[in-house]
Amino acid sequence: MASGAIALGAISPIAALPKGHKAKIIVAGGHPGDPEYGCGGAIASLVEQGHEVVLLYLNDGGWPPTPAATRLAEAKRACELLGARPVYAGQTNGAAIVDNLHYEDFARRLNAEAPDVVFTHWIIDNHRDHRAIAMLSYDAWQKSGRKFALYYYEVSDGEDTMQFSPNRYVDITRLESRKRAACYAHASQTPDRYYALQDQVVRFRGLASGYTRAEAFIWQEQSPFDILSSPTVDPKSA
Ligand SMILES: [Zn+2]
Repeated sequence: MASGAIALGAISPIAALPKGHKAKIIVAGGHPGDPEYGCGGAIASLVEQGHEVVLLYLNDGGWPPTPAATRLAEAKRACELLGARPVYAGQTNGAAIVDNLHYEDFARRLNAEAPDVVFTHWIIDNHRDHRAIAMLSYDAWQKSGRKFALYYYEVSDGEDTMQFSPNRYVDITRLESRKRAACYAHASQTPDRYYALQDQVVRFRGLASGYTRAEAFIWQEQSPFDILSSPTVDPKSA
């Protein structure tokens, strides 16, 4: 087999990120707020570790009566609170398109950031825009030659994410207040209701993983490495 070729069915050894390497991490979400609700604690933790995090929103979240300008300002503030940077993929809220042109366009935008790691929605989700960006992200991962590590996250389980069986956990106990602030920055999106729901999910995942609060992820097999493999214990919360 030629070197570098991928043998179907083979389990490739997981390489670690080189020590001291500052990773570029993209957290893709259907709408402004999705990355923050699903991964806000993990984002804060990764930024704290010195990694660069970009929140890539499929659309600007504009939906009558809330104008896009309001959503953009909220996302800007949420990203500031997490130490991340917002980027938009140029689609329209509630009308995501997944076709050859948009696969190409999304991959181009993603590759422009040269990510080491991408987080995206889980494939089974009741919101079409969430399913769309999951498909677009997965396709970009395949097309890149599986060059970056790929993870899936959950939002509003039961209402949005369905049948999510995580294999990675991140302790967010210490960082919960920063995550909450970033979610509440999306003031037009009834944060009292959605944050309460997501916090139930985080507490339940904490029960499963032995923390007070945890975010849960699915690591995509055949990713080149696993940035969440090393201790999920937050050394500063002990
Ligand atoms: Zn959404």
